[in-house]
Amino acid sequence: MLINPMTNLPPYQFMNGQLIKGPFMNGLPISEAFATCTFWSVQDVKWMQKALQLAKQGAKAGEVPVGAVLVHHQQIIGQGFNEPIGRHDATAHAEIVALRDACARLKNYRLPLQTTLYVTLEPCTMCIGALIHARVDRLIYAASEPRAGMVGSQMNLSVQPFYNHNIHVHRGLCSDHSSQMLKAFFRERRKAAKNIT
Ligand SMILES: [Zn+2]
Repeated sequence: MLINPMTNLPPYQFMNGQLIKGPFMNGLPISEAFATCTFWSVQDVKWMQKALQLAKQGAKAGEVPVGAVLVHHQQIIGQGFNEPIGRHDATAHAEIVALRDACARLKNYRLPLQTTLYVTLEPCTMCIGALIHARVDRLIYAASEPRAGMVGSQMNLSVQPFYNHNIHVHRGLCSDHSSQMLKAFFRERRKAAKNIT
């Protein structure tokens, strides 16, 4: 491959049968690489780490590990983890638990403006619906849920014109950490089920 001595990056690359002019980053021409790249703030990483800790707490309680924190002006106003088993409640997904926690703390069914929800897994139909009703401003999620995720995987309900509120969505922050935790949880559960039978 030709190397550009000025940038030390290959100046041309074949992509889809075409010769594309570089330089390249992560296999994409620089401009496209930047267009597809999300830059996270230190605070975003900190809050997602907190959501991952909550997910871990859920796993210890035997629940599918998903955690969520609701943040307003860099303060946690609500938090929770997935616990339908412990709460005997099919609606007790991490996002709903965090929303209810915030509303109870604030003694108000309306959330303040400019809240961000950090959750370790792409929300389902129920949860994205609740986030729209609660007027959450930003949603940042870690791992995608290809089977039933409603914020990009199966459909994207966060930007439908028939709702009177849309949510700004960013995906993929700490996604590997979250996926690994989920995979490990299901692996352990399958192992335990095998030992029973
Ligand atoms: Zn959900």
